Amino acid sequence: MEQFCPRCHEQQVYKSNTGSIGRYAGLIGLLIANSTASYNCPTCGKISLEEFPEEFQSGIKRKRIFSIIGAVAVFALVIAFVFARELM
Ligand SMILES: [Zn+2]
Repeated sequence: MEQFCPRCHEQQVYKSNTGSIGRYAGLIGLLIANSTASYNCPTCGKISLEEFPEEFQSGIKRKRIFSIIGAVAVFALVIAFVFARELM
């Protein structure tokens, strides 16, 4: 998703992942880390989500919800798989 910086309107913001949770917590951690990543402008630095236009904010929120649903679905599949193996 391309979005221009709400401060300078010149540079495109890029996503930066917060920490290295994803690497250690596997796929679920990766999904969570991805949904909590912050946006940065090359000249202005970190931009908080509140500074972006409403349309962009709602897009992010939707993506976050899908990420959480995805994480839960993966978790449920893993549990189901483990149970299926136990029963066999
Ligand atoms: Zn900027």
